[in-house]
Amino acid sequence: MTSKSLSPESLAAQALGWVDETTRAVVPPIHVSTTYLRDPDNQYRSGRVYSRADSPNYNQPEELLAKLENGADALVFSSGMSAASACFLALAPGDHVIVSKVMYWSLRNWLMNFATHWGLKVQFVDTDRIDAVRDAIQPGQTKLIWIETPANPLWTISDIAALSDLAYRAGARLGVDSTCATPVFTRPIELGADIVMHAATKYLNGHSDVIAGALVSARKDDYWQRVRMIRGQLGTVLGALESYLLLRGMRTLFPRVRTASANAQWLAERLVAHPHVAAVLYPGLATFAGRAVAAKQMRGGFGAMMSIRVRGDADISGEHAAIATAAHTNLWKRATSLGGVESLIEHRASVEGDGTPAPSDLLRLSVGIEAKEDLLADLEQALAIAHRRNTP
Ligand SMILES: *Cc1c(COP(=O)(O)O)cnc(C)c1O
Repeated sequence: MTSKSLSPESLAAQALGWVDETTRAVVPPIHVSTTYLRDPDNQYRSGRVYSRADSPNYNQPEELLAKLENGADALVFSSGMSAASACFLALAPGDHVIVSKVMYWSLRNWLMNFATHWGLKVQFVDTDRIDAVRDAIQPGQTKLIWIETPANPLWTISDIAALSDLAYRAGARLGVDSTCATPVFTRPIELGADIVMHAATKYLNGHSDVIAGALVSARKDDYWQRVRMIRGQLGTVLGALESYLLLRGMRTLFPRVRTASANAQWLAERLVAHPHVAAVLYPGLATFAGRAVAAKQMRGGFGAMMSIRVRGDADISGEHAAIATAAHTNLWKRATSLGGVESLIEHRASVEGDGTPAPSDLLRLSVGIEAKEDLLADLEQALAIAHRRNTP
């Protein structure tokens, strides 16, 4: 069977089925060399020179990810941030970019501060509204539309197919931060996106032990060459051990993400009815604003990220009740980040600070693969304590 006819699950489980030619090992060796031997006639026929730009450790994770996303090529980076920022640095000062108003806060900060200072004209738009994006496009000037969907921490959904159409007609690229959708549920390139970005730190690795990023491109064009050059020149490359761990994590991507997403759907449906929960933000709920678009572009699940807004009462504000709830969970770990097999809970406004779109009563939940009943019971007892403690 050629890899073309195999399903993504099979490709991931076997990391493309590669075997090391020297040893017949079914797990790839970790290459630690930073430099490579030059041929006597002064050539570098191996194609390898120095590891700031590239390394054999990337071959398998990059090729596997390109296959899972149905792209032409992929690059792994030292972090999600270095992957995302390379997409903007490959543009030119003076270019206009449209980015989601609701997005990963650290990238938003970098765009507002560094990228703007460097000369990009950055416009934050509600990218879940097609007309708002259409109005923001500056013909000839807009070079990139950048969306995150579902977007941190409100899980706002942007329509990839509709926006790729707008971008194409404007001569701009569409970049999609697909970290939370994962290739398990969404393949943005098949919907028309030009670039897909992953904080591989999250679901692709899946074990909260690697900081990594990745990009997949629909085409090997000049823009993509600039992105590759930026990685090589700045050296925002992944370490050898991290590359190995990332590939190991990707082998279990499908069962991990499907289990976590099923847990999230189950929890969301129960938490909507909870007396101490004012709202559940989760694209898998029929009442969620972006549900119809999510159903169109997410196949087989809505992901494992959700947020809840904790209800206040006469004795405690929603904000304090939310913070107290997080303080009293045991199984849910009070920590930032997402996408690991363990469930995490976080009062998001405390992390993001000024300018956050997160209401002060919002808790972000990264649902893991524990037993769903245990996760619900732990949240329920924490919500109960948060409210009881402050009631005379
Ligand atoms: C974590 C995250 C990033 C940044 O990734 P790092 O690996 O932490 O640099 C970007 N986008 C999203 C959606 C994320 O969750």
